[in-house]
This record gives sequence, C-alpha cells and structure tokens, in this order.
Amino acid sequence: MIYYEEPVIRPPAEADSLILQATIGCSHNKCTFCITYKQKKFRVRPFEHIKHEIDWAAKEIPHVRKVFLGDGDALAIPTDDLVQILEYLYTTLPALKKVAVYASPGNFENKSVPELQRLKAAGLSLLYIGFESGDDDTLLRIKKGFTANEMATLMEKPNEAGLKISATVILGLGGPSDMQRRGENTAKLIDKVSPRFASALTLMLPLGKKPYQKHWDPNWRMLTPRESLQELRFLVNAVQGNKIIFRSNHASNYLPIEGTFQKGKAKMLDQIDAALNDQRALRPEFLRGL
Ligand code: SF4
Repeated sequence: MIYYEEPVIRPPAEADSLILQATIGCSHNKCTFCITYKQKKFRVRPFEHIKHEIDWAAKEIPHVRKVFLGDGDALAIPTDDLVQILEYLYTTLPALKKVAVYASPGNFENKSVPELQRLKAAGLSLLYIGFESGDDDTLLRIKKGFTANEMATLMEKPNEAGLKISATVILGLGGPSDMQRRGENTAKLIDKVSPRFASALTLMLPLGKKPYQKHWDPNWRMLTPRESLQELRFLVNAVQGNKIIFRSNHASNYLPIEGTFQKGKAKMLDQIDAALNDQRALRPEFLRGL
C-alpha cells in the first residue's frame, strides 16, 4: 500500500500521476499565504519506506507512466538520496517515463549545476516552482525568502542543467493596490527565467483575511473576479517570452486560458477581454477550489 500523510496536493497536470511522498511538508514553510503544510514538520522519508511503496506499485499498478514526488519541495532531498529514489523508480516501474517534483527557490542554494545534471540523467523530468510573484514588495510581505532577482539568479542553475521548469504565480496576493506593477514585475521574472511552462493561480482565503491584513494593511481585501482578470491581463500582456506555455487551468482561477506567447498571446488577451465584458463566462465561486 501507499502511505499518505494528508494533506496531499499536486499540480493539475499531475492528475494522472502516481503520487509518492518522498518528503513530508515543506522545508521553507514560511509563506504567509500558504497553510498547506503548516501542521507538518518537514522531514525526508526513509528510503526503505519509499522503496516499499514503489515495490507495491510495481505489483499492483505496473503500467504507471508518471510519478509525482511530494510534498512541498522534494528537491530538498540530498542529491545522492534523490538519485537513489529516481533510479529505483525507473528500474522497478517498467512503463515509467516521467518523474516530477515541487521545488522551492531555496533548494537551489544547496544544489550545484552538476548535481542537477545528475538528477536529470537519473530521470527527473520537471520541476514545479512557486515564484508566486516577481514583485519584490509582494515577495517580502509573503515571506517568500527571496527577491525576484535572487530567484532569477537561482533559476540559472536548473536552466543550465537542462531541467524543465513549470513556474507558478498567484493572482491577488497584493490585493487591489498596484495590480499593474505587480503583474508587470511578475512578467519580467517569467521572462528572465524563461521556464517551459508558467501557470497562474488565484488567491483563495482558507484562513480568512486576517493574515493578509496583518502583513499588508488593515484595509487589504480580495480582488473581485473582474480585478483578478485585470491583473491576469497585465501579466499576460507584459510577458515577451515566445515559447513559454502559459496556463490558468487551476481550479482557483475564474477564467481558464492556455497558449504560448508566440502564437497564442493575442487570443489569450481576447479571451480575457471578452470575459471582462461579459463575466457570465467566469467559473462560479462555488466551483473554485485549491
Ligand atoms: S514554499 Fe511553497 S509549500 Fe512552502 S510555504 Fe511557501 S508556498 Fe507553501
């Protein structure tokens, strides 16, 4: 059997992946908007436990083609240990083609380019990295731990190692103030890093407004659906990176759009404008989720 310590989350694109918790929790666990792992103390699970679950999967679901290693940043695992997990996965699951993980920017402070190249050679296929924003004021208030430039510099390592990045940003973190600046600064970070994929989520409030009012100001409030679309528009309009595939297909978003900035930017902007003019097309509040 596979052991899951709840909550277990994964990116939308990993819906058909086998999830294995190689770590529990998040090694950073300080972002003010994120409650996902607040009840978990970060730890790397012993290899023997993970091996036992891979052996179970080999017997019960040997057709598995994709594995997602949780929790919040499995890239925090020391390189030798992560290589051991990857090698065991690929030798034990005959149909396996891809292994993805969440990573946080701090993971790259402790990993060299040759280490990341080893992980790629061992079959690590994709890194999902939460940038959250490219706006330094926002990053400071959410306690991300890095400025936009620091994140861009750290991302040179996985780029040099040839690892694919899927970057995530969150609409609405800054409330309604300076949406244009926040959207455009986030676009600048996306352009500097040039990830293979970039996705937008929209902020939700499982803990209510108080944590945000504490870190922003007493008048902080959620974006309205219309404001959320405006911030999305500032972002999409400002990104130049031609080949980046952009998606807003996460269930938290009011409007799912997808395209590359080379061929699909005008269409994505048209879709946003159409929704701004007629908001009946938006995902209703009761269908939004994290
Ligand atoms: S790095 Fe990611 S998982 Fe960890 S606290 Fe921040 S948002 Fe949450």
